[in-house]
Amino acid sequence: MNVGGLKTITKSVVGELTHRLGIGPFVCRGKVLILAYHRVVTPDDLSRGHIEPGMYVLRDVFDMHVRWLVEQFEILSFSQLLTRWNDNEWDDRKRYCVLTFDDGWLDNYRHAFPILKTYHVPATIFLPTNYVGSNEWFWPEKFAYLLARLSQNSLTSVQRTRAGGVIAELSGMAHHEFDGQHGVSLDTVWEVIGRCKLAPPSEIQSGIHKLSEILAISVPHERVTINWSEVAEMAKNGISFGSHSCSHHLLTRLDEETIRQELQESNRLLRALPAGYLPVFCYPNGDNNEAIQGLVKQAQYVAAVGTKPGVEGQHPGNMYELNRIGMHNDVSETIPMFSFHVFRSAWGL
Ligand SMILES: [Zn+2]
Repeated sequence: MNVGGLKTITKSVVGELTHRLGIGPFVCRGKVLILAYHRVVTPDDLSRGHIEPGMYVLRDVFDMHVRWLVEQFEILSFSQLLTRWNDNEWDDRKRYCVLTFDDGWLDNYRHAFPILKTYHVPATIFLPTNYVGSNEWFWPEKFAYLLARLSQNSLTSVQRTRAGGVIAELSGMAHHEFDGQHGVSLDTVWEVIGRCKLAPPSEIQSGIHKLSEILAISVPHERVTINWSEVAEMAKNGISFGSHSCSHHLLTRLDEETIRQELQESNRLLRALPAGYLPVFCYPNGDNNEAIQGLVKQAQYVAAVGTKPGVEGQHPGNMYELNRIGMHNDVSETIPMFSFHVFRSAWGL
């Protein structure tokens, strides 16, 4: 048996044990688990491609999570959590949980919202306000769409070489990885995208533009994020909305003035909502530093979340980088796996 196979078996045995002994929920006594979801999709959505593996849970898996969480935890809205912290109302015997979603995907409205309504569970969605109601895709999905074209036989070798050059330049990966006749694997596509996140936003945009020209295809303009009327409808039904900046650019790659604008403008738009406003910020890609945390505070946000895994207790370590536990299908498609993932993240393993 190879190492990967052994690892998978060990994981599922330990997961089953963790679950049977109730260790996942046990380590959360007196704690709050802030879960970070992105997309909630159907197998049909998945088959169309361009969905990053670490970014989704299947709709049925999400339904199973919520059913289990309702039994095991007291689910709070983010504002209820803030009130408990402010008023020092904390019960050490209880296990608290807060559900959050990043990016405002349309599938949150279509698939997650009906489930949340069924179980009367509150949640918070962090919105990059420029994308609300637009037909613009996030750049990683644009990139994945264009890279999928490299697998098509109709491309000429000149097109392949030129496209490979653009990708290699942006990602810092070796040119030959993209020269083959068989295109690039899905794993390579998402590895390229992960590496490109470090490039300045303007270079990413111009790289996408060049690729689109070389490959002679344009990225579809179809809405993948929620619009303001969906926001209003959800806000009437227990969903609150925090800021995920305006542009979703990594704040660590922007100058101070631009960061201030991103923080203030998104806050101004969300404050204008008739209901559901939450003065909490979510760092795009989790990237932040002390100076950025200071700017978030100055912009009147009362807290911020990142991607640092862990749980929080009665006295959070840093209100401007609250721990969350990232949730995606690979680590949570059964309750034992979910429970094991919570246990690992709570203990920083
Ligand atoms: Zn995001």
